[in-house]
Amino acid sequence: MSDLLPIFMKLNNEPCLVVGGGKIAFQKIMQLLDAKAQITVVSPKIMDDLISLPINIYNRNYMSSDIVGKKVVIAATDDKIINELVFEDANKHGVPVNVVDQPDLCSFYMGSVYTEGDLKIAISTNGKCPSFATYLRDYFNNISQGSWGKSLKELALKREKVIRTLKTYSEKKEIMGEIVKSVLKKKIINKNKMGKVYLVGAGPGDPELITAKGLRAIEKADVILHDALIHPYLVFEINSKAKKIFVGKRENKHSVSQDAIHLIMIEEVLKGNNVVRLKGGDPFIFGRGGEEIMALAEKKITFEVIPGISAGIAAAAGFGIPLTHRDDATSVLFITGHQCKTSTEQDWEALAKLQSTLVFYMGVRRLKEIAMGLTKNGKDGTTPIAIVINVTLKSQKIILSTLDDIINGVTEYGEITPAIIIIGKVVSNYDIVQNFLKAVPSNMVMPVRDMDFDMWKTNVIDA
Ligand code: SAH
Repeated sequence: MSDLLPIFMKLNNEPCLVVGGGKIAFQKIMQLLDAKAQITVVSPKIMDDLISLPINIYNRNYMSSDIVGKKVVIAATDDKIINELVFEDANKHGVPVNVVDQPDLCSFYMGSVYTEGDLKIAISTNGKCPSFATYLRDYFNNISQGSWGKSLKELALKREKVIRTLKTYSEKKEIMGEIVKSVLKKKIINKNKMGKVYLVGAGPGDPELITAKGLRAIEKADVILHDALIHPYLVFEINSKAKKIFVGKRENKHSVSQDAIHLIMIEEVLKGNNVVRLKGGDPFIFGRGGEEIMALAEKKITFEVIPGISAGIAAAAGFGIPLTHRDDATSVLFITGHQCKTSTEQDWEALAKLQSTLVFYMGVRRLKEIAMGLTKNGKDGTTPIAIVINVTLKSQKIILSTLDDIINGVTEYGEITPAIIIIGKVVSNYDIVQNFLKAVPSNMVMPVRDMDFDMWKTNVIDA
């Protein structure tokens, strides 16, 4: 229990003493300057930042006579004897004293202070945990975001009128109470009029591979717009209250257009909702995240992009294929298979020449064209290739081959999607490490894990 008496002291033009001329003294001086005190600083060492301040500086040791006539004294030195002397002198003269970081030598504390115009909130933890007071100060800042100071201005004007027009104290108090409520409520509604969009990368499949920040955004969301390649655990189990809207593409079924996705996001955010746009892997790797943020920016809607682990990165990690293994590759390229329909749609010559690991997304249907494009332009036909299906899920699988074997139809791989194709020397590292590799997909998702991605192909699940 704290037995401190909180008071707000008027120090305007009053003489105050600060003993010490370092960083901590500087902080205290700034607080006293805010109170418009007339400050005298005494210290044999004075830091440069103090020199230009409107204060009196005595570059010498403290003397007991310095305290005479002062309203408040603060000691911020690392000299125990001086600190104690200041405390004793202050007590002798009946001057309130604060010796920084020595509660037993304080007759008052300076709390953590949150200020907005005329509003000043001072927080004390009775010396138990000053960091908590700092946390609360930041917390106030977050919820007010400048609105309380403005409200106070508005309320002060209204109060003048109330005082002039109403007679009794209880009447004034009651009416002011109502006015305060209505002004602050209005500010809150105004402030929350528009929500925020979080473009969240859900990761490659295993729901445990989402970032902590992404998870928190889902927890706080009012609406979740999700694609097909998102694990149902992330969509349904983390935040049961949020409205879920499926905007993914399903096999042989009508899909929601990109423009419609933009419209839904904008509509929801204008209603004041916080919207999570949950996208597979990373939002900016072949995810059309770019178009989505442009649409938001155009409407002046606030958004945040929370990156995710892209399927290409996860495919390699899961099977021990170091994408930029020092001896095998100097770079890694993420390529879309969509542009591989014909031999002219990719710069095969450039791709074949680079000593680079090539990671193809959306490429299984064009695998032969990809292999031919590369070998025809000089890539060695024995270059290893990995097709990784259902990356990081229980059903994940790797198929290994070479460019020549793909071209000659030696390797069977079907048209299983989703899949990542990794081409390059780095793939052969899998042979070396596979017996020791134990990558375990999440088992914290029992209720829905067996459905994996297949559920999105045939159903739309409305929450
Ligand atoms: N933004 C996503 C990619 C979207 S494009 C990301 O960063 O991962 C969709 C393609 O990603 C699929 O055609 C497939 O090539 C790949 N993909 C996504 N998830 C996958 C998974 N779990 N397993 C294999 N490939 C996946």
